[in-house]
Amino acid sequence: MEFEDRRGQVQRQKYDCLLFDLDDTLYPLSSGLAVGCRKNIEDYMVEKLGIEKTKIPDLCNLLYKNYGTTMAGLRAIGYDFDYDDYHSFVHGRLPYENLKPDPVLRSLLLGLPFRKVIFTNADKVHATKVLSRLGLESCFEGIICFETLNPTHKSTVSDDEDDIEFVGSKLSSSSATSKPEIFDIIAHFDQPNAGTALLPKTPIVCKPSEDAIEQALRIANINPHRTLFFEDSIRNIQAGKRVGLHTVLVGTSQRVKRADYVLEIMHNIREAIPELWESDKMAEVNYSGVAVETSVTA
Ligand SMILES: [Mg+2]
Repeated sequence: MEFEDRRGQVQRQKYDCLLFDLDDTLYPLSSGLAVGCRKNIEDYMVEKLGIEKTKIPDLCNLLYKNYGTTMAGLRAIGYDFDYDDYHSFVHGRLPYENLKPDPVLRSLLLGLPFRKVIFTNADKVHATKVLSRLGLESCFEGIICFETLNPTHKSTVSDDEDDIEFVGSKLSSSSATSKPEIFDIIAHFDQPNAGTALLPKTPIVCKPSEDAIEQALRIANINPHRTLFFEDSIRNIQAGKRVGLHTVLVGTSQRVKRADYVLEIMHNIREAIPELWESDKMAEVNYSGVAVETSVTA
C-alpha cells in the first residue's frame, strides 16, 4: 500500500505479508500439544519402527537437531513408513480440546491489512484442526504445510535404493523382504570429531532448511524482504533471517540474535510491533484531508 504524505512524498508500507508458524506460535506452549506430540513420536518409533526404547531420547535429539524434524531424520537414516500413518499416529491423539477459540487474536489478525499465510512443518489435517479449534480459519489466505513441500509419496527414495541394489551394490542380499540398512547416527556422533558432512540426506523438505523456506516463499509468491515471519523456534527464525525475512520470535521476552522483534504472546502484537498499524494512522490522516492515498498494491 502506498500513501502520499503532506509534502507529497509517497510512503510505502514496510510489509506486504505476515507469515506465521502454527504450533506454539499461534497458541501457547502451555497448551500441552508439544509434550503430547513428542510422546506420540517416541511411541511411534518404538511401536511402529521397532526401535529400542533406551535409544529413543538420544535418537530423537540427534534427529531433531540434524534434520529439522524427527520424521525427516528417521527417513534420512533409513526408516521407511507411510507419511499419513505417521501423522495420524503422532497428531491423532493430541489434546486438541485444550485449544480454545481465541477471539482476541482473531480480531487482531483480521484488523491487519496484509496477506496472512500459515507456514508449518505439520500436515494439513493437524493445521486445519488447530486453526478451527482456535477459531482462526478465516484469518489466513492459505496454509503451507507438510504436503505442500512434500507432494510426492514416500517411496521415491526407496525405489532409488532398490535400483542401486539391483545394479550391484555392496549389499549382499537383494531380497525384497530384507530390512533397509539403518544408519547408526548415535554411533556416528559417539566417534571423536564426528561431523555432519557424512550424514545421509533426508528426502523430506521442512523448516529450518533454507531450501524449504525458499520453496514455501516461491509457492505462495511471497517476497521475503517485505514479509514478517512469526515463529517460536529460534533456529527457524535464524534460517528465515538468512533468506531475507523480517523476523518475530514468539514465546519469549528475551531478545535473540536475528530476531527483529520478540513477542511473549501473540496478543501483545500491537504493543510490540506498532508499525503494523501505521497504515491505519495514515488512513486516518487521509480522512482528515491532509494526506491522500494514491494507490494500492497487491
Ligand atoms: Mg512452532
